[in-house]
Amino acid sequence: MNSGRSRIPLSSIHIERCPACGQTTTDHVLSVADTLTQDIYGDRLGEKVINTLIRCRGCRLVRLSPRLAEDSLQRVYADWYSSGYVGTQAGQGGDKSRDREFERGHLRRIAKVVRVPGSLLDVGTGSGVFLQVAARHGWRATGLDFSREAAELARMHHGVDVRIGSLSSLPIEKCYDVITMFDYLEHTTCPADDLEEAARRLRKGGHLVIRVPNFGGWQARVMGSKWVGIISLHLTYFETNTLAELLASRGLAIVYSDSGNYQTLPELLGNKLAWVCRKTGSRGHDVGSKREVAPSQQSSTILRALRFALASFHELVDHAGGWFGRSNYIFVIARKRP
Ligand SMILES: [Zn+2]
Repeated sequence: MNSGRSRIPLSSIHIERCPACGQTTTDHVLSVADTLTQDIYGDRLGEKVINTLIRCRGCRLVRLSPRLAEDSLQRVYADWYSSGYVGTQAGQGGDKSRDREFERGHLRRIAKVVRVPGSLLDVGTGSGVFLQVAARHGWRATGLDFSREAAELARMHHGVDVRIGSLSSLPIEKCYDVITMFDYLEHTTCPADDLEEAARRLRKGGHLVIRVPNFGGWQARVMGSKWVGIISLHLTYFETNTLAELLASRGLAIVYSDSGNYQTLPELLGNKLAWVCRKTGSRGHDVGSKREVAPSQQSSTILRALRFALASFHELVDHAGGWFGRSNYIFVIARKRP
């Protein structure tokens, strides 16, 4: 990252044409200052980044426009990764809770539809934890990521096979039984193209597995512009219907869908309690960290109880939302037509 007082010049571009259907007429949804670039660069930002969401009048897909230009996007990704995001997830020895998330959540869902493990390509593989867990369960798993830093960390910490590049850079002759895209599609500049490239690299009857933040979820609706899912690196904001239509237009039919929640209610509340104890006992924002922090003697029991109640309420709303397809995530498995 830069040192000194030089300003970080991030440039933006307008996306006039809907990347899904090509229409240009839109409705404004919301505008809000970006917290991610603010967190990374602080007052070194040349100009505040404003996230403006617009909805296509043709296919109803919500997109960010203007969005950061390609070189600015790459810069933010690089600085985001080097700020410790991937290092935290791919930390030495692995993160057991994250392992469990992928194992229980993603692989068990996939196993409901695909009975026998085969070849699997994980697009936007990030930390590489999923590849490692998938390989343990018998999948011949390969990762794909834009980021050289992420790929190297994944190889180093988890010993997994990760290629650097995009779907279109992979040879078309190579077809997979399953392609996964976890928390990926919302980041790409043209999700419709990615789905098309994925469909071309699936064998007939193969499955595409997707998890994306749910812009139609209850949290997103209640929080509005304060929803955590609105950041400058999320370029498309999916809802159940817009994702289904986009998949269908690329020859992919949804055969399984759920909320993307991976914890049972008791696990969820237990984890929240542990988080509150850590949070109350330390000053750091160490959500998801493995750091053991002894609760401070001065910590107030009432404060802990309040935090637990608030955090649990937040999660309970999301869990309940899952029963109606309104949780914070959409998880779908779509089948390529044979
Ligand atoms: Zn459209």
